[in-house]
Amino acid sequence: MPRTRAYAAQTPRSPLAPFEIDRRPVGPRDVAIDIEFCGICHSDIHQARDEWGNSIFPMVPGHEIVGKVTRVGAEVKRFKAGDRVGVGCMVDSCRTCPSCQKDLEQFCQKGSAFTYNGTEMDRKTPTYGGYSTDVVVDEKFVLSIPAGLDPAGAAPLLCAGITTYSPLRHWKVKKGDKVAVVGLGGLGHMGVKLAVAMGAEVTMLSTSKGKEADARRLGATGFALTTDPATFKKLAGKFDFILDTISANHDVQAYMGLLALDGALVLVGVPSEPAKVHAMSFIFGRKTLAGSLIGGIAETQEMLDFCGKHGITSDVEVIPVEKVNEAYERTVKSDVRYRFVIDIASLRKGG
Ligand code: NAP
Ligand code: ZN
Ligand code: ZN
Repeated sequence: MPRTRAYAAQTPRSPLAPFEIDRRPVGPRDVAIDIEFCGICHSDIHQARDEWGNSIFPMVPGHEIVGKVTRVGAEVKRFKAGDRVGVGCMVDSCRTCPSCQKDLEQFCQKGSAFTYNGTEMDRKTPTYGGYSTDVVVDEKFVLSIPAGLDPAGAAPLLCAGITTYSPLRHWKVKKGDKVAVVGLGGLGHMGVKLAVAMGAEVTMLSTSKGKEADARRLGATGFALTTDPATFKKLAGKFDFILDTISANHDVQAYMGLLALDGALVLVGVPSEPAKVHAMSFIFGRKTLAGSLIGGIAETQEMLDFCGKHGITSDVEVIPVEKVNEAYERTVKSDVRYRFVIDIASLRKGG
């Protein structure tokens, strides 16, 4: 197979730069994909900069992948050349443990094979992500992109979409529920769109005054600035469900005070430092503080089909691969509306 062009971080402090990798030959259950678009998730930045302390270098980030199938192995049944497909945060799992049996491959007890900054299930072969021209993935971990969805706008559904859809479903958010989404970035804007499509009454809690009009355009009926201490008094006890997507360290306990009786605050953002929360903030009001990790493959397909039905995609700023380092800086400054997506044609041309 010809070598694959990619962009990689060589160390936690070096900018991303051109790199070449080898993809495996197409096996009987494999799907070979020419990548068209890859979203930039804040997790790419955390890991490229080793902010979680688990990074492996060189690293080719990218787990919001959309592309076209070029070849399939002899045993592949669900895909054929020319199909538009997606790949998210995982490329394999053990398939036999209790989590895998329940379609929760993200919680595979042997440890799922993540799309990058990980290894295949042999625990030796490094995985490289979607800032690259092509990828070879087992059919079970390949998703169908519904016809009619813009491919660049669909790419972020593979992580930002499923990460917000899964907790909304698991905590059974329904029509009329009062939901707050915290942080209007890649995850947050998908959280607003999806919660609104599920019938919830959504309030956006943000540090950015300039995002109010966008929050309302996305379907939020309320907006409050978390930089104003009065917000935490005014909205105390108001929400059935809070989805916290903040990427930076912040006072989680303050947000617990916004929950109604039996309400749940679900963390999906992963700041580098542990959160400090007093037991009292759960005890009074029988509240839940929980976390949620992406979603299983079956649920990811369910989310894509839901987005196909409701015409939901991400609001994207499409960039050539040469602008990836600038896009990282802007994302860290919350200056993204609302997801950067790399046009991989720019990498194919020379990058
Ligand atoms: P993003 O696009 O950068 O959005 C994060 C948002 O958080 C910002 O737009 C900003 O919103 C808010 N924020 C940033 N710094 C803040 C601060 N110091 N205080 C308060 N709010 C702040 O990031 P993303 O791609 O959505 O990812 C968000 C987090 O989720 C990251 O930590 C990422 O690693 C994690 N993640 C988790 C999963 C999972 O499975 N659990 C999956 C994907 C990503 P405002 O401007 O509105 O305040
Ligand atoms: Zn992600
Ligand atoms: Zn497993």
